[in-house]
Amino acid sequence: MSGATARTPAHALDIERIRADFPILNQDINSHPLVFLDNAASSQKPRSVIDAISSYYQRDHANVHRGVHTLSQRATDAYEAARSKLAGFLGATSDKEVVFTRGTTEAINLVAYSFVEPRVGKGDEILITTMEHHSNIVPWQLLCERTGAVLKVAPINDDGEIKLDEMFAMIGPRTKFVSVVHLSNALGTINPVRRIADAAHAAGAFVLVDGAQSAPRMRINVAALGADFFALSGHKTYAPTGIGVLWGKAELFDEMRPYQGGGEMILSVTFEKTVFNEVPAKFEAGTPHIAGAIGFGAAVDYIESIGIDAIEAHEHDLLLYAADRLPEIAGLRIIGCAREKAGVHSFVLDGIHPHDVGTILDNEGVAIRTGHHCAQPVMQRFGIAATVRASFGLYNTRAEVDRLVAGLGKVREIFG
Ligand code: PMP
Repeated sequence: MSGATARTPAHALDIERIRADFPILNQDINSHPLVFLDNAASSQKPRSVIDAISSYYQRDHANVHRGVHTLSQRATDAYEAARSKLAGFLGATSDKEVVFTRGTTEAINLVAYSFVEPRVGKGDEILITTMEHHSNIVPWQLLCERTGAVLKVAPINDDGEIKLDEMFAMIGPRTKFVSVVHLSNALGTINPVRRIADAAHAAGAFVLVDGAQSAPRMRINVAALGADFFALSGHKTYAPTGIGVLWGKAELFDEMRPYQGGGEMILSVTFEKTVFNEVPAKFEAGTPHIAGAIGFGAAVDYIESIGIDAIEAHEHDLLLYAADRLPEIAGLRIIGCAREKAGVHSFVLDGIHPHDVGTILDNEGVAIRTGHHCAQPVMQRFGIAATVRASFGLYNTRAEVDRLVAGLGKVREIFG
């Protein structure tokens, strides 16, 4: 974690005020104040997001884009305003580059089907890495089955970093697409996606960055990242479930085939011929998750009111503090010690099953995740079945890290 010192300097978030914005945090679990350290799976929602959704349903709900009446116009305006906020959040040059999806998973499947599939044939290669989430593995396996393309996997080292030299050597004339995670949910590794994108582009390949974990934790500027597509999920970014975004370059979106057919994505339909709508509507068949998009817009407002740089610095402080304290527990081994790391500590305790750790911590009111984190190849790489994972959000505190460590101390007492 030597990258630590190079990052944003000290900061001061008013954590007590921030915590008061999240109603769910104010409760006891098993007679202890809740410590929520499962943010990488899904983060909690501030009141402003909950209120935006509630107010939409109480005052403005109607279907979007199709009505001339006032409520439909209000709903449409709010839905499109959310798109603009997301465009700003990602540094996109146009709202047309923002497609609402159900989440990162759907965004990746959309790119696989609509962009990559028509461009690949037998023997062409799709390159991913060992540290991908299943949602950035399985869509490519399915695509390879359909097309005869070959899935290549760049290896990672013992610290949980991509072996870049080996990855670059795997990029060649047959490489058509590279899909890589920005911040690993299983290891916390931040990948040098710009360098990877440059190498891929030099070989004529296109690039998707899975930003499910990075979007809530660091400033995203899609132009600076150099990718062609970027995917994120609302529910990890303080917004509702069931909503996400696929950002893509406008010229690529324009030439892509639709993902699903239905209403909204057409300009005209006859039985002889259907003319598709412009982007982004072309990729938003059917009635969208209007309330989800509005909630996502409100979450962006909330994040921006605090400042993503301050959030990044705060979480980084927690990560370093936890990295200092966790080794106090006998037999604890952190899995993933990348120099560039954020948000997540995965670890194992000698001789104790992660699920037992999770159950005992829950008794202490501490919510962490145990299992393979939808990244089974990472577990296989490290020769383990599962880890315990503590993941941070903007409302977590050093005192909560202390509660985690105290809980792990209890685990050690019980298991010896
Ligand atoms: N990629 C990463 C790195 C993730 O952490 C997750 C969620 N755990 C996903 C993709 C999938 O996101 P979703 O389930 O919201 O589609």
